[in-house]
Amino acid sequence: MKFEGHLNNKLPNIGNSVFSVMTILANQHNAINLAQGFPDFDCSDELKKLVNVAIQNGHNQYAPMPGLMSLREKIAEKTENLYSAKYNPETEITIVPGATAGIYTAIQALIKENDEVIIIEPAYDSYIPAVELAGGKAIVYEMLFPEYKINWEQLKKLFTVRTKLIIINTPHNPSGAILSAEDMRKLEKLINGTDALVMSDEVYEHIIFDGFEHQSVARYPQLAQRSIIVSSFGKTYHTTGWKMGYLLAPENITAQIRKVYQFLSFAANTPIQHAYSAILNKPSYYLELSHFYQQKRDLFRAGLKNSSFKLLECSGSYFQSVVYDKLSDKGDFEMAQTLISEHKVASIPVSAFYKRKTDHHVLRFCFAKKEETLNKALDILCKL
Ligand code: PMP
Ligand code: GLN
Repeated sequence: MKFEGHLNNKLPNIGNSVFSVMTILANQHNAINLAQGFPDFDCSDELKKLVNVAIQNGHNQYAPMPGLMSLREKIAEKTENLYSAKYNPETEITIVPGATAGIYTAIQALIKENDEVIIIEPAYDSYIPAVELAGGKAIVYEMLFPEYKINWEQLKKLFTVRTKLIIINTPHNPSGAILSAEDMRKLEKLINGTDALVMSDEVYEHIIFDGFEHQSVARYPQLAQRSIIVSSFGKTYHTTGWKMGYLLAPENITAQIRKVYQFLSFAANTPIQHAYSAILNKPSYYLELSHFYQQKRDLFRAGLKNSSFKLLECSGSYFQSVVYDKLSDKGDFEMAQTLISEHKVASIPVSAFYKRKTDHHVLRFCFAKKEETLNKALDILCKL
């Protein structure tokens, strides 16, 4: 069928997301999927049981619009314990159906026509479309390569009177880089005295390696008072398919976000909120996650050490980026396609995370996989 009338095209430069494209290709070629970021192992039986119990106990109708109060209270407690920051569960914490929905909602609520939003690239692919759909302008800053560091002096030059928001992401997807305390102080200094807000995407907050501490903006009171923190249960509990996250923001920012949220979804899945609320009584789930993923990172890096790929730093997240210059001078998209069709391993070409499709010949591999899966992929990658 085809509609014959005039159709608006609000995202003219956007096709299917690179994650869908690569996962479909991986499935077509029966390739090992180290492309899209999701675990190939299951979540805990305890968590599954908690969802079933909530359903059996009749928690099957709408949750309150901002989320179950018991869940918001547990999040407040956890945030205070980890980052010494107080968020009022009544007015400053909102449960959303996944971080992507949280990012979208906050941007629609806070960005108007011609507002400028600074995006630090490479960047998660939902940021720019969300800004453009709100009528805003994405102003991109490309991090220094290959360290994926920010030169704050250079970035500062992008600020204008129209700058309404800057989006940061630590630990960072796709690079695995993290922001340091010094980065946060520099951000705090440059943004003070402006009207700009900060959106801090911290969905990998519990996946950080080598003893580094996660630098949540919640730790920095002056930043926190102008920030929206985005978090996702999917990364922390191996439940990316359950799509549940939350936003932390000062009361007046939260009030604006909730006005939009009530018309985006109104509320998030009730039984799953009950389950997360109960599992948050056991901090070991998130406190042990860094160690769990550090073992996988180390296995994957050790396996690639003598390969033709050059390993880039990975201090957090569940992604390892590599440069393939020694193997080919193909563009990264073509390289990723060849790797799938000829060698049966799927990755993500990192140029997909740049507005200008900047291609440093880098591929991103997701190591949130069983040891067996990683070893199979390593066998192939080491022979190239
Ligand atoms: N931000 C980043 C940096 C991510 O990698 C992801 C993972 N997809 C998200 C946000 C979205 O998380 P969710 O699956 O909860 O929407
Ligand atoms: N965050 C995951 C990734 O970067 C998946 C995102 C998605 O499929 N939208 O691979």
